[in-house]
Amino acid sequence: MATPLEFNIDVALYGLLVLGLFGFLWLYYDRRDRAFYDTERRKITFHCIRCDHLYTEKVGTEIAPCPKCAHPNTRLKF
Ligand SMILES: [Zn+2]
Repeated sequence: MATPLEFNIDVALYGLLVLGLFGFLWLYYDRRDRAFYDTERRKITFHCIRCDHLYTEKVGTEIAPCPKCAHPNTRLKF
């Protein structure tokens, strides 16, 4: 049988472990989300004037063909 002291240490260690795990997961997803939004921000939106399709290309692309109908579109100006 565990004495109350050992029980408390076990609970404290378990709590720290869970906290550490959540902290790690939070950091991991936070960094992953930031990387995801960074790549999203580096993309620009194109709108196909022929078939009304919206698509994105990486920044620096001035003319991109539509993935649906291959019509070359110039970038949207905001
Ligand atoms: Zn199109």
